[in-house]
Amino acid sequence: MNHLDEIRAKIAIEDLVGGYVQLKKAGRNLKGLCPFHNDTHPSFMVSPEKGIGYCFACNNGGDIFKFIQLIEKVDFPAAVKILADKAGVRLPEFKPEAHNEKLRMLKVNEQAAEFFTEQLRSSESGMKYFKDRGLSEATIKEFQLGLASDSYTALRDYLKKSDFDEKFLLEAGLISQRSIADKSTFDRFRNRMMFPIHDQQGNVVGFGGRIIGEGEPKYLNSPDTPVYNKSFVLYGLHLAKEAIKKEDLAIFVEGYMDVIAAHQAGTGNVIATSGTALTTPQLRLIKRYTRNIAFAFDADSAGAEATKRAIELAQEAELNLRIILIPEGKDPDECIRKNPDAWKQAIKKAVRVMDFYFSHAFSLYDAKDIDGKKAILNMLLPLIKQTTSSVEQNEHLKRLAYELKTEVKFLWEDMKKLESRKTYQPVAGTEVPAPQKEVFSREEFLLGFIMDRPELYEIVHSNLIDVAGFDPVTEKIYKTLKRVYNSRSIVELRELQGELSEEERQRLSILPLLIEEYYPDFSEEAARKEVMSLIRQINKKNLRASQKEFEFRIREAQDSGERTLLLNQYSQILKLANKL
Ligand SMILES: [Zn+2]
Repeated sequence: MNHLDEIRAKIAIEDLVGGYVQLKKAGRNLKGLCPFHNDTHPSFMVSPEKGIGYCFACNNGGDIFKFIQLIEKVDFPAAVKILADKAGVRLPEFKPEAHNEKLRMLKVNEQAAEFFTEQLRSSESGMKYFKDRGLSEATIKEFQLGLASDSYTALRDYLKKSDFDEKFLLEAGLISQRSIADKSTFDRFRNRMMFPIHDQQGNVVGFGGRIIGEGEPKYLNSPDTPVYNKSFVLYGLHLAKEAIKKEDLAIFVEGYMDVIAAHQAGTGNVIATSGTALTTPQLRLIKRYTRNIAFAFDADSAGAEATKRAIELAQEAELNLRIILIPEGKDPDECIRKNPDAWKQAIKKAVRVMDFYFSHAFSLYDAKDIDGKKAILNMLLPLIKQTTSSVEQNEHLKRLAYELKTEVKFLWEDMKKLESRKTYQPVAGTEVPAPQKEVFSREEFLLGFIMDRPELYEIVHSNLIDVAGFDPVTEKIYKTLKRVYNSRSIVELRELQGELSEEERQRLSILPLLIEEYYPDFSEEAARKEVMSLIRQINKKNLRASQKEFEFRIREAQDSGERTLLLNQYSQILKLANKL
């Protein structure tokens, strides 16, 4: 029994929570007013049996350690200390396993970044690439820019010498596996200019790589890993955060080169998303530093859905938003290279969102022509309708009426006829934001069902095709579960816990409660049906992902032999997909 188990054995969740919240019995569980949100009827559920307290209204809670973390606002080690004192357990020097794993992953990323930097230093053409784009030595160093050579194994072999095994390198997203059948590995980044991606503390958490010369994809990013979640990271923030606070403004641009050029030109409050469109968590992150943001997106992306969506998200997040119209060239990088002062002026002259839409619409269509007028109305009326105050709407409509030489009352009528729709429809072929992760994923519900009703394990085991779409934690939980089941034919929470890191235990322990909350009193038959439907959806998602992966690798295939092999595997995947 380790120290955490010892503490768990000595402190009952109901006693701990009971010290903060009045609990009443509710069936097998206890319920009380949630201490984490403004709760009016008891939604905080405590399961003495499972050692968990959780609120499904605000999705906060966990075991005793998590509960203390949340309610005392401390980190995990501090929570362990508090509870150890309470339980009278003496702690050895404490090193949580998950924490170590993350530190190791940061280390391997740092070493990879150093390796790429070295490669760049020894490549004349590589250095020329950045210098031709106007970057100084100091800038190249500041952003830790690098180069991945055209080798399939250089990085892998280098890191293996430092005792990182292939399994770990795969988890870190630095190497890839040929296929499900062929487990041999190769460097993920080849023949690319390398842009390390840092978290806000300045740790390297992933990479973006731009192809040298022509090729697909033009930009390749690290996959999500335990230290890199694309939706939560902003490129350049570690260097920009002080300037953002000082200027009380954060400027979002689209590309890595835009960020770097802007910093070199003296505008240090510039950041970019990396590998995704803008997300709500990224906006929450920036809100810690400022409430004022500006978008300086490529001129030709003005009408793109991704830009509209970004604007919507910023408005939902209640940030003050301005749009920077880039005067020269099509992106900030180009503008700065041509005329850095024009860039600084453009920042000063940033316009309100509706001004931006107006100038975009009027630049696209002819306002004197009847079809042009219609097109302008089609574009602007829905946007005006979305603004919340009718005073503001009236102002916009007055301006529109003036510009189109018509009367406001007609515009009001037209606008009212529009259906109110706000749902976001991605446009095929463009990069769309990853769907906001729901609080719980399908995979987690699936695992929850297995924990709640072990007899369902067999169904899952025999129908689930692959775990490729699982996030790292659920994947580890599922694989561990599978191993325990195979050797002992049981699904038992306690049996699993010894095999998991602390973070994984926290995630795991909530899962059975999840089912009690979302599927109360489900019959066995209903549970089976739900599980089958979850498996179908997960399989579909996985197949779609491997389909994409194959399409990419077929395009990338070096010779016709490799191509044929890939095409064969691809057609098998298509067959499977058609059966679902
Ligand atoms: Zn709550």
